[in-house]
Amino acid sequence: MNERTRQGDLKRLAALDVGRCTFAASLAEHGTWRIGGPADLLVEPESVAQIQAVVYFARTRGIPLLVIGQGSNLLFADAGLRGIVLKLGSAFANIAISGNTITAAAGAWVPGIARRAQQAGLAGLEHTIGIPGTLGGLVVMNGGSQRQGIGDNVRRLWTVGEKGKLTELTKEECRFGYRSSALQESGVVVVKVELVCPVGDPRVIRHAMLADLRERRRKFPRKEPNCGSVFLSTAQMHTSVGPPGKIIEEAGLKGTRCGGAEVSHRHANFIVNTGGASAADVLALIDRIRHTVHQRIGFTLACEVRYVDEQAVIRPADQLLVFPGT
Ligand SMILES: Cc1cc2nc3c(=O)[nH]c(=O)nc-3n(C[C@H](O)[C@H](O)[C@H](O)COP(=O)(O)OP(=O)(O)OC[C@H]3O[C@@H](n4cnc5c(N)ncnc54)[C@H](O)[C@@H]3O)c2cc1C
Repeated sequence: MNERTRQGDLKRLAALDVGRCTFAASLAEHGTWRIGGPADLLVEPESVAQIQAVVYFARTRGIPLLVIGQGSNLLFADAGLRGIVLKLGSAFANIAISGNTITAAAGAWVPGIARRAQQAGLAGLEHTIGIPGTLGGLVVMNGGSQRQGIGDNVRRLWTVGEKGKLTELTKEECRFGYRSSALQESGVVVVKVELVCPVGDPRVIRHAMLADLRERRRKFPRKEPNCGSVFLSTAQMHTSVGPPGKIIEEAGLKGTRCGGAEVSHRHANFIVNTGGASAADVLALIDRIRHTVHQRIGFTLACEVRYVDEQAVIRPADQLLVFPGT
């Protein structure tokens, strides 16, 4: 599709009732790394019907479409995105609790859900209290701690698929794995999630949450923009070579810089934006870390962070890089 046709289509979309539309929206303002160029059109829908309309419009015209929450696991391209970014935020923040079931909209803030669960005496979400993302992003990533993923608590969820159709999926259909799910490949928009949690003592749950937050404050970079853990930290890896933070630190890489991107001095599995970092800087630093670690211990680090290119194609950031270990 040529530039003129796409721009014409995007103007037509923005004239429809699809929510708040911003042309040439800076993606740096929609990701925790504060990196990324402009997206042609950012749409912030307020209803499921509006999401359905946007998805149908984009898919039938072949316009690249990216769904985001808080952008806390994404590296946006310096060139931005030639298409539509659909952001699920505060209009999709509803959380309802009945018995041991939590039903929440995909834009709900993860720590907010964890806090509501604690107040209701529901356990199992303690590990999510410090994750700065939306429920939609968490479910798609099957995010959580090293031992647990949110998929453990999912009973079912509702998605808007390729043709704009609303579909219910069971936990089994989501095929959750370590930081992975079938949702990553299918390109659907998650709109609502039902979680089931065991009953627990609110004081014990609160205690566990406070301990998790203390640990994060102690270990993680506090001020500089970042995207959480850059590299995957699987149980298998812990047994064979140890966690990524440890092996990167042992390779002497703390403080290593490429442009404005730096391996955090506080935690070596974090790359921080020291000011004005570009996506190219982050990718170059990821490449350097992977090279050095591979040369040193023969282990190939894989990325948890996902890179979004100009055509809205999302893939683990290491899959863009070429070096002898891959
Ligand atoms: C300081 C810090 C600490 C972190 N700690 C953790 C941690 O302990 N554990 C952990 O797992 N992660 C952690 N993260 C990473 C990140 O917060 C999680 O992956 C989070 O769940 C992503 O949510 P998000 O709304 O930001 O998603 P985004 O980053 O916006 O998107 C992530 C992926 O989900 C897709 N997506 C988002 N919303 C939807 C939707 N509604 N429908 C379909 N697809 C969607 C996107 O297309 C993308 O592929 C951390 C990040 C930071 C910055």
